[in-house]
Amino acid sequence: MSDSVHGTVLLGKVIDGSLNPPIERGAVVFEGESIAWVGPEPALPERYAGPDYRRIAGAGRSIMPGLIDAHTHVAFGEARSEEELALYTPVEYRTLKAAWNAKKILQAGVTSAFDAATTYNIAQNLRDAIDAGLFPGPRFAVSGRQLTTHQGLEDSFPNEMAFPPGQAAVLIKSRDDFIEAIRYQVKDRVDAIKVSGSNDNLITPDSLDNSAISDEEYALIAAECHRLGRLCTVHARTRDSVLGAARAGFDVIFHASHIDEAGIEACLAGGAVITPTLTLLVNLIEAGEVMAGVSGIDAFKREVEAAVANLPKAFRAGVPFLCGSESGWSPVPYGEWHARELAIFVELLGFSPLEAIHCATLGATGVFRRFGEKIGKLEAGRHADILVLDGDPTADIRLLMDRNKILHVFKGGEDVDLTPPPPRKKEWYFERHKIFLNGRLHYDPATRGRFITP
Ligand SMILES: [Zn+2]
Repeated sequence: MSDSVHGTVLLGKVIDGSLNPPIERGAVVFEGESIAWVGPEPALPERYAGPDYRRIAGAGRSIMPGLIDAHTHVAFGEARSEEELALYTPVEYRTLKAAWNAKKILQAGVTSAFDAATTYNIAQNLRDAIDAGLFPGPRFAVSGRQLTTHQGLEDSFPNEMAFPPGQAAVLIKSRDDFIEAIRYQVKDRVDAIKVSGSNDNLITPDSLDNSAISDEEYALIAAECHRLGRLCTVHARTRDSVLGAARAGFDVIFHASHIDEAGIEACLAGGAVITPTLTLLVNLIEAGEVMAGVSGIDAFKREVEAAVANLPKAFRAGVPFLCGSESGWSPVPYGEWHARELAIFVELLGFSPLEAIHCATLGATGVFRRFGEKIGKLEAGRHADILVLDGDPTADIRLLMDRNKILHVFKGGEDVDLTPPPPRKKEWYFERHKIFLNGRLHYDPATRGRFITP
């Protein structure tokens, strides 16, 4: 931008991130890093109409805040399994990959993201490198490695093995360990603590009435997180893990698929928000329709059914919802699925498109303690984190999943380069676990032929 240009005027339908009706013929003005003015185009102040303001306009456009993805794993490198995540790719290469992938997240229109568990200390250092201007990427708030017990998600391997340092978790063996791990991670500059309140349904398909952590432990964790000024979050798929964490005053419940009336009441009383993150499950179910060998399809279908039955009750009762994509696992590659959760909210949970957009913008700002007041809404004084779209996402929410419809992504007033990165030239042997064959090769003496079974 040359010195003679004082700012930028965007014209189109303005969807501001709140639940207020959009402005059909609206204008958004930003100067430098911040939004200067938002309102109906006919009311645009004279000073913004001159040639020293760049004007971006076109028929049928919409302007909305940059998306907030409330559940990413920027350090997971699109791992295909727990083994791959825990054992493969040295930390240095993982970190470089994470920086490469962060750009893809931003280019998809995600200007802020909450990273809900990392490996090593990658997420907090990538957050800082992006803030320092070293690499393009969203504004991140991050949790560290999740705190898990032997019953929680991420204690994946047999007891006789040492807990792998590359696992996205730290193994907790006593109540004192919880306190120590929280203080240790706070020293490592996390924004949030994440604990494993339940396992995954793939691993424990029928145990809905369990929790990996006792009620006393939830209370201990929440108190220490809050004493140190950190957000307290939990992976909680089962009924009891949701209830235990919500009653203890946890701030964010991830998944909550089996929440019941008592859990809803506890969320309302304690102020917890829910980030269902159904995209991973729905993507896996759909992957199972096009290829064999996807594990746990039936369990995922049962969980989505439960979520569809339970979650709308929580939302209508007043529990705030956030949109998270789970990007970082191989069924949810970076840069491709960040807006799918909005479509799931509309198509499966019965939200209006405007409600879904609110959940992915202004409604999600509470999990960003550092800059929550500055993002999520088109409003004077906030960061100019803005999307310009070809079309109207309140008429078609899937528009946000179409990269060709995202004309501009501004982060802090800077026009993000949307040129997709070239495909990777190589995937290294040290990034992936080794599979000889997905199945067993047999010899049939009668026909002298070979055949494969799963
Ligand atoms: Zn996750």
